[in-house]
Amino acid sequence: MVKQIIPANYREALSLLNEEPYQIIAGGSDLMIQKRNIAGLPPKFEKNLLYLFNLKELKVVIKEPSQIRIGSMTSLEDLLDHPNTPPLLKQVIAEMASPALRNVATLSGNIGNASPAGDSLVALFLLDAVVVLESIGGIRRLPIEEVIVGPRKTVIRANELIREIIIPDQDFTKVQWVKVGGRKADAISKVSFAGAVNVKNQTIQDFRVALGAVYQTVIRNRTIETTVKGQTVSALKNGVKTALAKFEPLIRPIDDQRSNKDYRKQVALNMIKDFIMKI
Ligand SMILES: Cc1cc2nc3c(=O)[nH]c(=O)nc-3n(C[C@H](O)[C@H](O)[C@H](O)COP(=O)(O)OP(=O)(O)OC[C@H]3O[C@@H](n4cnc5c(N)ncnc54)[C@H](O)[C@@H]3O)c2cc1C
Repeated sequence: MVKQIIPANYREALSLLNEEPYQIIAGGSDLMIQKRNIAGLPPKFEKNLLYLFNLKELKVVIKEPSQIRIGSMTSLEDLLDHPNTPPLLKQVIAEMASPALRNVATLSGNIGNASPAGDSLVALFLLDAVVVLESIGGIRRLPIEEVIVGPRKTVIRANELIREIIIPDQDFTKVQWVKVGGRKADAISKVSFAGAVNVKNQTIQDFRVALGAVYQTVIRNRTIETTVKGQTVSALKNGVKTALAKFEPLIRPIDDQRSNKDYRKQVALNMIKDFIMKI
């Protein structure tokens, strides 16, 4: 029988994690499915459980002059309602799961779960989010790309908690989010896309693309993005085939119960093209 611990405060949670490895539970919306049991029986957990729902210190959203800091236990629904949540992240969250689920689910759970189809991850990669990990030993601040290293794989240590997610303020002239799922709501993505661009005097100053569910992690490639910066909008549109050819080898999806790799690849390329042609 596993122990179930509800720490009274954040410091206590870190101390407990320092003593033994626990299964950390934020909203539980991924874990309760992954650990489900036959009908009528409680989920099957191997480790003792550490619940974070009580930690008010982690339910804060702080706006600073050039960034927003999102406490790891802020629910997705609270982020949807918050005036300082970046517009792209709001758009993404609005299409995640359902309102009931969003009231418990968190960004940190989406990060900890590290699914290639995790929707908020596409926005967090695009927005250069930084994940703040804390243990009794100290704090690590890592770009989201360095936290998620494979399907269901992160570099979060057994004694660490995600404390907060930091998103720098950014200026874009156009942002685009497209999620393809089996239905309009409560669907896991078959393919997802986020793009952002900043154009001044018809010249591309910043160009970003992030794709979900078409590789082992979210795809974002800064080398390709750099080749686009400095181009005029018309040059990019005229050379859209060249841009697509650069992305094409990176898109390596799998067949699964939701979709197949050929469909996913073609849709991903269509999404990039659509974004470029609409700049
Ligand atoms: C019906 C349904 C629909 C869904 N729809 C979507 C969807 O549209 N898009 C989507 O991306 N996902 C979807 N999901 C998946 C899930 O809701 C999300 O991944 C959600 O963000 C998980 O958050 P959580 O707080 O519930 O995570 P939990 O299940 O509590 O945790 C997930 C993982 O993160 C770790 N973790 C959580 N918080 C921390 C922390 N502070 N520090 C260290 N590790 C931590 C946990 O240990 C665990 O490994 C859906 C799930 C269901 C059941």
